[in-house]
Amino acid sequence: MTSRSLYCLRCARPAEGFDGCRTCAAEGIGVNAMPPLADLGGVDLSSYPGGPWGLPAALPVPGPPVTLGEGNTPVVRLRNGPDRARANAPASEVWLKYEGGNPTGSHKDRAMAVGVAAAVAAGADTVVAASSGNAGAAAAAYAARAGLRCLVFTNEAVPAGLRAQIDGLGAERVVRPGTTAERNAAMARAVEQPGRYPLTSYSSPSPGGNPYANEGYKSVAYELARDFSGRQLDTVVVPTSRADLLAGIGRGFRELAAAGLIGREPRLMAAETAAAAPFTAALRHPERADQERTRVAGGPTVAFSLGEERPCWQGLDALWRSGGTAVAVDEEAIMAEHRRLAAEGLLLEPSSAVASAVARAQARTSGGLVVAIGTATGLKGLVG
Ligand SMILES: [Zn+2]
Repeated sequence: MTSRSLYCLRCARPAEGFDGCRTCAAEGIGVNAMPPLADLGGVDLSSYPGGPWGLPAALPVPGPPVTLGEGNTPVVRLRNGPDRARANAPASEVWLKYEGGNPTGSHKDRAMAVGVAAAVAAGADTVVAASSGNAGAAAAAYAARAGLRCLVFTNEAVPAGLRAQIDGLGAERVVRPGTTAERNAAMARAVEQPGRYPLTSYSSPSPGGNPYANEGYKSVAYELARDFSGRQLDTVVVPTSRADLLAGIGRGFRELAAAGLIGREPRLMAAETAAAAPFTAALRHPERADQERTRVAGGPTVAFSLGEERPCWQGLDALWRSGGTAVAVDEEAIMAEHRRLAAEGLLLEPSSAVASAVARAQARTSGGLVVAIGTATGLKGLVG
């Protein structure tokens, strides 16, 4: 189906399909299967045009590209006033990479551009996604672009703007009330039919999203390396749920460092909503064996696109490798930051504000060049 075989990141066993490593899942640990890292040797970043298809050799999908012009999103410097409580506050800059600038308004476009191309390469006629939001809209758009049908399984809590987007792009929206497990079971039945290709995960513990699609997120790291060329990025803060974006950005930076295109990999930070913060909870344990098996109870949150009960393993791996950490932000602080961004002219969804809140705090305490990933526009509306 694709040119590069997948393997489990944790136990190194070969792994196929879309439900991650079965051996690790039997231990209660969700680990995605991944292709090998790409070799970026010889790449000239100054001529990299951006987006996942700007470096097609780094993708595990043969093509042809499915594209709507995703990627190349702006980086905007945030106003981050000095901390008046500390006279000698360290020098710092906080930037926001605004993924709301993608064609359907979120970072998911980077993944779905690649995932739908993988579906085409696999001979599928229909793609299937389970999503309460941005992934469903992105799947609908890229499926339409490729001439494929699209089924989107949602719950009832989809904001009106997103619902209109999914419907307007011609996807078939299947509303499944009930638990995540029930929605997963419905999607598993749907993808068993011939010609269907899954773009999101549907097993438990969740291994994370489609491993081919997720490779599209590496382009965030490539663009940051190009746009901050010659400067050392100290910290990149990523809103984190299943950690597809976090792990993808981490893989991109590893490829860049291995090819000598950046000096050192930045420290990654997972920004979570305090309503469901498995990475923050996991990293409180001193032993990795306990971190891997962490489980938290999730609650409702304004950051509706975030919220998982367990840390997907490749997210932990990305934090471990970069010396990173995870920080949880409570609802009040999320909405305060949401308003603060809007006062700077940036209307983002609340889960993006989670990252910029953490980035501002990190810059105040540790200084340096800090980038927050603003995952999606706030134009799709809030749950409520
Ligand atoms: Zn494994």
